[in-house]
Amino acid sequence: MEIALNSEEVKQISPLGGSVDPGFKREIKDTCGEDVMSCYQCGECTAGCPAAFSMDIAPNQIMRMTQLGMKDEVLASSSIWLCAGCETCATRCPRGVALSKVMDSCRQIAVKEGRKVKEPNVLKFHDQFLKEVSRFGRVHELTLMGMYKMRSKRFFDDVILGIPMFLKGKLGLIPSFVKGRGEVRKLIKKS
Ligand code: SF4
Ligand code: SF4
Repeated sequence: MEIALNSEEVKQISPLGGSVDPGFKREIKDTCGEDVMSCYQCGECTAGCPAAFSMDIAPNQIMRMTQLGMKDEVLASSSIWLCAGCETCATRCPRGVALSKVMDSCRQIAVKEGRKVKEPNVLKFHDQFLKEVSRFGRVHELTLMGMYKMRSKRFFDDVILGIPMFLKGKLGLIPSFVKGRGEVRKLIKKS
């Protein structure tokens, strides 16, 4: 007797419990142009990554899990939010894969799909940064930090660093605007 399977029944489950999405690698490619299938797991990216020590999934593992369609786990990781976008991984990769762009695409997809963000304060910082650039055409550090602290409620983080910077005049009190900030605003809105 032939047994008919509906799409729910044939859905594969990843070793970590999420559903497998074979289209995830395609989604990444459409977002940033990077082909994750080029990765052959040499680990050079992780070896050079300055943020790997703080991540819950190492950068090369993010690549492997993306190849395997483990979208739920990748998008729920802290790694995609702790990536500093320094591009060391892209520079070291013998296969020419820009893992930094893959991380960025994962953040974009997570936000677009309204996923639970493991590092919500990083998202708040990104959001506030863009708001400041949109408003002034550049970042005014004091406004950025003030607004970020209001949103994250982490009022006393970095105070020890901030006070000497302020006393040395590294943090201007009055924001300066760039010419053509309307253009900058339009670019941000478009992207
Ligand atoms: S350096 Fe490149 S090929 Fe090697 S594991 Fe990282 S992404 Fe993959
Ligand atoms: S771009 Fe991100 S993943 Fe790549 S080396 Fe820098 S912090 Fe690590």
